[in-house]
Amino acid sequence: MDLGLTGRRAAVAAGSAGLGFGSALALANDGAEVVICGRDEARLKDAIARIGHSCRYVVCDVSDAEGGREFVELATGVLGGVDILVCNAGGPPPGTFASTPIEAYAKALDLSLLSVVGMCKAAVPSMQERGWGRVVAITSYGVRQPIPTLILSNTARTGTTGFLKTVAREVAKDGVTVNSVQPGVHLTDRITQVYGANPDASAMGIPAGVLGDPIDFGHAVAFLCSEHARFITGAHLPVDGGQYAGLQ
Ligand code: NAD
Repeated sequence: MDLGLTGRRAAVAAGSAGLGFGSALALANDGAEVVICGRDEARLKDAIARIGHSCRYVVCDVSDAEGGREFVELATGVLGGVDILVCNAGGPPPGTFASTPIEAYAKALDLSLLSVVGMCKAAVPSMQERGWGRVVAITSYGVRQPIPTLILSNTARTGTTGFLKTVAREVAKDGVTVNSVQPGVHLTDRITQVYGANPDASAMGIPAGVLGDPIDFGHAVAFLCSEHARFITGAHLPVDGGQYAGLQ
């Protein structure tokens, strides 16, 4: 299926590995010009070689609003503009209510909420001016069903989801869609750090019986960036092998 992405300019944050990498790969394979960011130049060089399609990178830490803004500005410098923005970063550290000190919350909000705000503030106005844009934020299924050992992620990303929904409704008339994708458990470095080397999908309550593949995840992101998805905005799409058991 032609997603209508040929020539669209895409900035994918934290794209050197995992779900960001899968998203960058899918967008590049579907014809977009892609710039990724990360903090480690060697990992970025390796990632763009694996993505191919003239994918480029900028070194940037998107762990707060200023980093998010800087990434969009650097990507704009490389691409000449940003039509597609994939908001992503590493996740905050694990912890429960009892084990997490109050000082940790501000840093998590910087990383998982304000970095998204910074990216959107830098990218969305010019999308509105051009009358076309796509924002897709990678959040977590913990927004729907809070994960007991990830209190920082649950707390920050719920705010992010409210922010995205509000922006989506404000800019819909300008041809800009704003959505999030809520990953369940995909086999990435983040997951082996949180759950150990070989997480058991069935024991984790994933009806599909397997962990998610970041490459499949990337295809879901690319679809939301496509022409076909122009009427989908303000949505929060779980990609979780059926793990979330609720109706909404
Ligand atoms: P990951 O740790 O496997 O990969 C993240 C990538 O982003 C790495 O390349 C890393 O170097 C880069 N990165 C991390 N922090 C960065 C920063 N501040 N600035 C720039 N680059 C940075 O993570 P992942 O599994 O791909 O997850 C991506 C996001 O999705 C995370 O926020 C994670 O918490 C969330 N998430 C992932 C899953 C999953 O199943 N993998 C599930 C729920 C939520």
